[in-house]
Parts: sequence; C-alpha cells; structure tokens
Amino acid sequence: MFDTLSDRLTSVLTNLRGKGRLSEADIDATAREIRIALLEADVALPVVRGFIKGVKERAKGSEVSQALNPAQQVVKIVNEELVTILGGETRRLELAKTPPTVIMLAGLQGAGKTTLAGKLAKWLSGQGHTPMLVACDLQRPNAVNQLQVVGERAGVPVFAPEPGNGVGDPVQVSRDSIEEAKRAQHDIVIVDTAGRLGVDEEMMKQAADIRDAVKPDEILFVLDAMIGQDAVTTAEAFRDGVGFSGVVLTKLDGDARGGAALSVREVTGQPIMFASSGEKLEDFDVFHPDRMGNRILG
Ligand code: GDP
Repeated sequence: MFDTLSDRLTSVLTNLRGKGRLSEADIDATAREIRIALLEADVALPVVRGFIKGVKERAKGSEVSQALNPAQQVVKIVNEELVTILGGETRRLELAKTPPTVIMLAGLQGAGKTTLAGKLAKWLSGQGHTPMLVACDLQRPNAVNQLQVVGERAGVPVFAPEPGNGVGDPVQVSRDSIEEAKRAQHDIVIVDTAGRLGVDEEMMKQAADIRDAVKPDEILFVLDAMIGQDAVTTAEAFRDGVGFSGVVLTKLDGDARGGAALSVREVTGQPIMFASSGEKLEDFDVFHPDRMGNRILG
C-alpha cells in the first residue's frame, strides 16, 4: 500500500548519507522533499504541516548538531514523527468488566465491515474468547447471508432475524442479541451495521440508534484505505454522526496511495487499532504504529 511513499522517503533520506554535517539549507531542502512525498501520497495537509514542523525543529535543534552521523539522526527523527502521526503506542481492545463486551462496527458499504467481523471473531476465538456475530445490516438483501457465510468460516455463531420475518428492525435485533449473548454465554458480541455507498443521515441515525441500544464498549470505524482523500471526510462524518473509539484500516494490500488513511489518527484523534490486508480471514493484525513506521521507511 505505501510503496510509493516508502520509496520516495527512502530516496530523500538516502541523499543525506555521506554528508558530514547538515546545514540548515540541507535540512530545509530535505523537509521540502518529504513534504512533497507526503502530499503526493494523499496525507492530509494539516497533518503534513505538523509533521514537517516537527522534523525541522528537531533536525535543526541539538539532536542533529550533536549527532555523530546527522543523516542517521534525521532518519530517526522522521521515523519517530511517522510513528507519532500513526498514534505512537499500540492501542488494545477494551474488554468490559462484566461480559459481554460489545464491539460495534461502522463504516461505508464496501469498507470491509462484514469481512472484518469474521476476522475479529476468529482472532478473538484464537485467544480463548467465545464471540458471537450480530447481523444488523438488514438493508442489503444479501448482507445477513454474507455474515452467516463469514461466521461459518470463522467458526462462530451469527445472531440474525429469522428468515421470512420481513425486513426486521436492526435496533431490536441488536438489543435482542445482547440477551442472547448473556444466555448462551458469549463473552464478546460483534455487531455488524449497515453502510451506504456515501455518508447519509438515515444511515448515521440507524447506527446511532444501535449504539444507544447496545452501549458498545468499542465502536470501530472501518475505513477502506483505498478511497483516497475521501477517507478524511468520511472519518469526520462518522466521528460526528456516530462517534468511534478506534479505527480499522482495510485493504492495505491495495496499491492506492493510502496517505489519507495515515491522516485519520491525527484528524479524528482516535487510534488505528487493527489492519486488514486481504480477503482471507487470516489477513488481519493488530495495528502497530512503530512497525508501520519502520515499514514505510523501508
Ligand atoms: P461491508 O460492506 O463493509 O460489509 O464490506 P465487505 O466486508 O462486504 O467487503 C467488501 C469487499 O471488500 C468484499 O469483496 C471483501 O472481500 C473485500 N475486502 C474486505 N477486506 C479486504 C481487505 O483487507 N483487502 C482486500 N483486498 N479486500 C477486502
């Protein structure tokens, strides 16, 4: 996903090698190149500004002048600033003191929510949890069925309205699912919600109603990293319309520029918690800002 950005940053920083000392002009020129690389990768402008400011201040300050090898020191600074915009520390799931822990998934249609529901469930099962999936996307005719397929692949049960019971009320389904989880002793409930192709009020209201009905311990905003600059506005719309406690980046296996997704932490203030990088249930991991930072710097 971040190959172009990674190549660009690596080549900018490689140009510094072999310089015994770095002048202010060297640092300014490098910062300019980094700025262009980030903007071309679609990283949001305010995030780029903060990033460049941090790099410049630190590179011109004592950190570089005292360093034995200024080029390496600049690489270190850029790496640390990258890790900072990606959230710094890894943020773990918050589990409820009294089960079930309720995790609600929100995001646009096609973002990868249903797939993620299966991935999360499988991952949690592997850690000894007993998750249950809940089908609250009753808008799309095939969505319940799709979640059932995913549940089967992940080996976890799916709570859904009985077939033939009409469209069903997703808020009621979500409420009932909590009772069912308690009865059947599932310690984690993962609620899949409906998305639209674009942000709309009705979708936001339904997600907010489900949120109020199940009082989630975590609301994960699922973001397709391939949607480019729309990532930031979509994230802001979900933050304002539903609110979320963490972000999941999906489709990191794609070859789009992806920088907008790198902005989502800074723009929304919420951490990126998981990363999805393929259609298979195994293509999933906890998001580690430091590892991603290292990967981008090659
Ligand atoms: P939903 O509408 O948000 O529930 O999205 P889905 O889970 O149905 O995913 C939409 C499409 O994206 C499906 O074809 C998935 O197989 C695919 N998909 C989901 N996550 C990933 C991912 O991480 N990488 C790739 N390449 N495809 C994904």
